[in-house]
Amino acid sequence: MVQTRPRKALIIGAGPVGALTALSLHRRGWEVEVWESRDDPRGKDSAPSNLRSINLAISSRGLEALRSVDPSLAEQFQAEAIPMKGRMIHHVDGKQESQLYDPIHGQCINSISRPILNQRLVESLPSSIKLRFNAKLSSVDFAHRKAYGASPSQEHSTKKKKTSALVPGEEDDDGAIGGGGKKSKSKGKEDHEDEEGTPFDLIIGCDGSWSKVRTAMMRMDRLDFSQQFIPHAYIELHMPADPSKPGGYAIDKNHLHIWPRHAFMLIGLPNKDGSFTLTLFCPFSSLATLDTRDAAARFFKENFPSAVEIVGEKRLLDDFEKNPRGNLVTINVTPSVWSSHAVLLGDASHSMVPFYGQGLNCGLEDVRVLNSVLEKHNITSTTEKALGETDSSLELALKAYSLERHEDLKAICELALQNYTEMRSHVLSPLHQLRRHVDTLLTRLFRSSTTATLSLTDAFPTKKERGWTSLYEMVTFRPDVGYSEALRKEKSQREIMGWAGWIGGATLVGGVGIVGLKLARTWAERR
Ligand code: FAD
Repeated sequence: MVQTRPRKALIIGAGPVGALTALSLHRRGWEVEVWESRDDPRGKDSAPSNLRSINLAISSRGLEALRSVDPSLAEQFQAEAIPMKGRMIHHVDGKQESQLYDPIHGQCINSISRPILNQRLVESLPSSIKLRFNAKLSSVDFAHRKAYGASPSQEHSTKKKKTSALVPGEEDDDGAIGGGGKKSKSKGKEDHEDEEGTPFDLIIGCDGSWSKVRTAMMRMDRLDFSQQFIPHAYIELHMPADPSKPGGYAIDKNHLHIWPRHAFMLIGLPNKDGSFTLTLFCPFSSLATLDTRDAAARFFKENFPSAVEIVGEKRLLDDFEKNPRGNLVTINVTPSVWSSHAVLLGDASHSMVPFYGQGLNCGLEDVRVLNSVLEKHNITSTTEKALGETDSSLELALKAYSLERHEDLKAICELALQNYTEMRSHVLSPLHQLRRHVDTLLTRLFRSSTTATLSLTDAFPTKKERGWTSLYEMVTFRPDVGYSEALRKEKSQREIMGWAGWIGGATLVGGVGIVGLKLARTWAERR
C-alpha cells in the first residue's frame, strides 16, 4: 500500500511575509517549520532592540491577502491602524496642502507599527507549527534537500557587532551563504547548530532583501538576478507627541505628511501614541556635506522649518546624528522558484524602493497568489513521495506561479521608482495638480464597475481594467487589478491625456488665431 504523509515546508524568516506564509500553508494541511534569526517577538511590549520601530502603510492589497488567509487578521490590523486619507504637502513657507488619495470614495491607506504587525502575525501561528527563533539559515544542501542553521551563541555575538548598522527590512548578516549547493565543510563545527540538517520538501525564502535561500538557489540554476541602489539614503527621525494637542498629534493624524524639496524630502506617518515617525530621504552625497552639527542645523532650518519647530532642534539633530543611514535597493530575480523544492516570497524575491508603499503589500499578495495557484493546481496537503523527492505536479504549480507573477513584480518595482520623483518633486508642480484633477474628473465620468472582491481561485489579478481609473487607485486600492495591468493602463491613459492636451492646445491656438485674424481684418477695414 502507498504511504501518504503531509508535505513539509521549511520557511526561512518570520517577518510579516514568512509568518503569513506559515499560517497559509498550515491551513492547507502542510507540516510547517519556521526559522527566524531574531528573537521571539511574542508577548513583548516594544520593538525588538535590534529593529528600529518604523511604521508602514498597509493598503487594500495587503489587507486582501491577510483576509484570504484569515478574515479576522485583516479586521484586527485595520482596528490597530491609523487611516490616512491623503498626502499633506508642507511647503517651505509653512503652508499645508491636502491632496486626497481618493476624492471620490474617500479610501485610505493605513499607518501601522511594523513591530506590532509582525508580532501579531507571529502570535497568530498555532502551536502545531514548529517555530525556531535565534535560528539562522547558514546553508542549504539542495542535493539532499536539507537546511543547516548557525548556532544561537554565534548569533548573539554577530548581533552585538552589527546592531548599529541594522536597517529595517534588512537582515543583520548579509554575508554570502556557506556551502551553497552543498553543506560547507570548511566553516567549522560551531557554525552549525544541527549537524544532521533539517529535511524539507519545499524551502520558502521569506528572509528579506539579503536572502540566503536566494543565494543558495542561484548556485543551483540559471536565475537572472539584478540589484540596483538609488543614490538616496533614508534616516529615521522622531516627532514626539504634543500633550497640548488632541490625541497628542501636532499635525493632522489622518494624512501622510510630505515635505518635498525636489532633490530630497521628509515624510511623516502617524503612530497611535500621538507621535510621528519621520523619514528623511536624501542623497548620500548631500549627507556627506552635513558633517557638522551646525551644517545639519542650517539644512533642517532652511528646508524643514515647520518640522524643526515641532520636534525641537536638539532632538532632531540628536536623531540625525545617531541614527543609521539605510540603503534603498531594487532587487529582481527570475525565476523565483527552483524545481519543486524552493520558492522566494516578499523582499527575498523583489525588493523595491519604498515610495509607493507597496513592498510589504506586494509581499503579502505573493502569499495570496501562491495559495491560489496551489489550489488551482490541486496541490493537496499530502504526498506519496519520500521526503525531499521531486514532485512534478508541485514543480509545475511553482513554475506557473513564477512565470505569471513575474510581470506584476517587475511592474511594481518600476512604479515604485517612478513614484520616487513624484513624491519629492512632482507633487509641487501645478501641471501635476491639473493632471490629478483631470484624472479625478475622468474617473467620475468613465469609472469601471469592477469590484475588488477576489475568490481563492482568482490567482492572478490580471483582469483587464476597463473605463478610467487613476494609477494610484489601481495600485493601492484595487487588488483585483495586477500591477502590470495598472502600469499598462496608466501608459495608455497618459497617452490619451497627452493627445487631449495637444488637441485642446491646438484648438485654443486655432481659436485665438481666428479671432485675431477677424480683429485684424475689422481693424484694417476701419482704417
Ligand atoms: P523582512 O521584513 O525583511 O523579514 C525577513 C525576516 O527574515 C526577518 O525577520 C529576518 O530576521 C529573517 N531572516 C533573514 N535572514 C535569515 C536567515 N538567514 N535565517 C533566518 N531568518 C532570517 N512596505 C509597504 O508595503 N508599505 C510601506 O509603507 C513601506 N515603507 C517602507 C519604508 C522603508 C524605509 C523601507 C526600508 C521599507 C518599507 N516597506 C514598505 C517595505 C517593507 O518593509 C518590506 O517590503 C517588508 O518588510 C518585507 O517583508 P518580508 O517579510 O519579505 O521581509
